[in-house]
Amino acid sequence: MTEREFQKAQPRKQFAQHWLKSEKALNEIVRAAELQPTDDVLEIGPGTGILTRRLLPLVQSLVAVEIDRDLCDRLTKELGRRENFLLVQGDFLELDLPSVLAPFPAFQKQNKVVANIPYNITGPIIEKLLGTIANPNPEPYDSIVLLVQKEVAQRLGAKAGSKAFGALSVRVQYLAECEFICTVPAGAFYPPPKVDSAVVRLVPRQFETPAKDPRRLETLVKLGFGAKRKMLRNNLQSVIERDHLSELLEKLEINPQARAEELSVSQWVTLANELQVLNNEL
Ligand code: SAH
Repeated sequence: MTEREFQKAQPRKQFAQHWLKSEKALNEIVRAAELQPTDDVLEIGPGTGILTRRLLPLVQSLVAVEIDRDLCDRLTKELGRRENFLLVQGDFLELDLPSVLAPFPAFQKQNKVVANIPYNITGPIIEKLLGTIANPNPEPYDSIVLLVQKEVAQRLGAKAGSKAFGALSVRVQYLAECEFICTVPAGAFYPPPKVDSAVVRLVPRQFETPAKDPRRLETLVKLGFGAKRKMLRNNLQSVIERDHLSELLEKLEINPQARAEELSVSQWVTLANELQVLNNEL
C-alpha cells in the first residue's frame, strides 16, 4: 500500500483502529509466532493488511476476520487472488468460525493465531480463543501471539506475588503458558493509542494439577480477588468457614494473612480441590 492510500484508510474509533507502522514491532510479532510452512494461521482484525502481507508468504494458509466492510473491500482488491488467503467479513466474537469455514476445504482449521487485535475487546477475544477454566477450548491452538495493551500483557505474564498478578493472570495461566515478549511503544501506531502496547505469546496446555471441579475454581478465583487489597480470608468468608480456611491455608503452607495475588496458580487449584464448601455458593 502506498503512503497516500495508507492515509486514506482513516482509522475508525468505533472499531479501535490503530495501524501498526513499526517494522521492528512487525518483526517481533512474526518472530514470536515461530511460523512454519505447514502452519494454518488465524488473524483477527487485519485492518490495512500490514501484518497480513508479512504472514502470507510464510504460512500454508491464512484466514483473517475483519469487521470493517470498507477495509474488507480494500483487502480483497489487494490480496483476494492469493490462493492461501481467505478473508471473512464479520465480528470475530459473534462468528461461529467452523461453520463459516465449512465450504472452504483449504481453510478448515487453524493451528496458530497471530494478530494485532482491537484493544476494546481483548478479554472476550482471549476467552474465545482459549475458552474458560470450566469450558476450555476443546481444540486448542498450538500458540497465540497477540499485540495487546501493555498492562494486559503484564497481567498475562505476571508471576504470583507481583503487583500485576490478578484474576486474569490465574484464569489465563491455568489454560496457557504466557510469555511477555516485548514492549511496543504507542508511537509505533497511527494514530498512537493512549497506552503502550506489548507482544504476548500464549501456549495452551493442560495444567499440571487439573482442578477437580473447574467451575468451583473459577468462582473461587472470582471471589478471592473480589475486593482489592483485602486478605483472601476476608474475601472468602461468605463461602468458606473461617476456621476451615485457616486450617487449609496452614496445611498448604500459605500465610493465613495472604492476599489473593500472593497465591500461585497451583495453590489456587489446590485450594479449590481441598476445601469443604460451607454452602452452595461454590
Ligand atoms: N492488524 C492491523 C489493524 C489493527 S487495529 C494493524 O496492525 O495495523 C484492529 C483491527 O480490528 C481493525 O482493523 C478493526 O476494524 C478490527 N476489528 C475491530 N473489532 C473487530 C471485531 N469484533 N471483529 C473483527 N475485527 C475487528
